[in-house]
Amino acid sequence: MINIKDNLALIEQQISQSCQQANRTKETVELLAVSKTKPAALIEQAYRCGQRAFGESYVQEAVDKIARLKHLADICWHFIGPIQSNKTRPIAENFSWVHSVDRVKIAQRLNEGRSGQDTPLNVCLQVNISGEASKSGVTVADLPQLAEATANCPYLRLRGLMAIPEKSAPLSSYSKMLELFTRLQQQYPEFDTLSMGMSGDLQPAIANGSTMVRIGSAIFGSREQ
Ligand SMILES: *Cc1c(COP(=O)(O)O)cnc(C)c1O
Repeated sequence: MINIKDNLALIEQQISQSCQQANRTKETVELLAVSKTKPAALIEQAYRCGQRAFGESYVQEAVDKIARLKHLADICWHFIGPIQSNKTRPIAENFSWVHSVDRVKIAQRLNEGRSGQDTPLNVCLQVNISGEASKSGVTVADLPQLAEATANCPYLRLRGLMAIPEKSAPLSSYSKMLELFTRLQQQYPEFDTLSMGMSGDLQPAIANGSTMVRIGSAIFGSREQ
């Protein structure tokens, strides 16, 4: 049996500890509970424990769960998966945040999809920091251009960067992300989010400035492949 309450408490404690080691206050790191493949009932349990931000990776699955959980006031949905260009509209219409924007065309299509809504869509740009092995993410070289194009979209709010350093990635991947983040922060006033760190690498992520950790299996248990 999964005890979501205990798991959340344990993760909060690990976040606290990592913050303390890094000389940061706990309030500077937000916990995103990654609920992909997990049923709506487990999400609701986490919500009852006080968790508000949830991350999903698969559009159809997410849209179904979002509809089922409409009664949960102030729940906040983040899309963190790869984005196909024919899926941008349901993402723009159903989520508050998207972490995985990695090309101009996707930013523009999300912007169009968001135009009917009252609030802009919060966007993080996914950076391919570990190099060629993973396909997702903008290259460091193309990042400035993507940031500029996103900032120019009226229905998007450019909030920061996201990365998934590979398991074998050197620690320098984390500090490189912090460096990119800090540099762009000077240019974009609303840049306040560095989305980095998962169940297995929360500590190095927080040591290197992460402001949002995306935790799945440590809260909801392992996923079926
Ligand atoms: C699945 C996923 C996570 C959560 O991974 P865990 O190892 O289960 O914590 C975080 N970020 C992204 C982008 C994911 O797809």
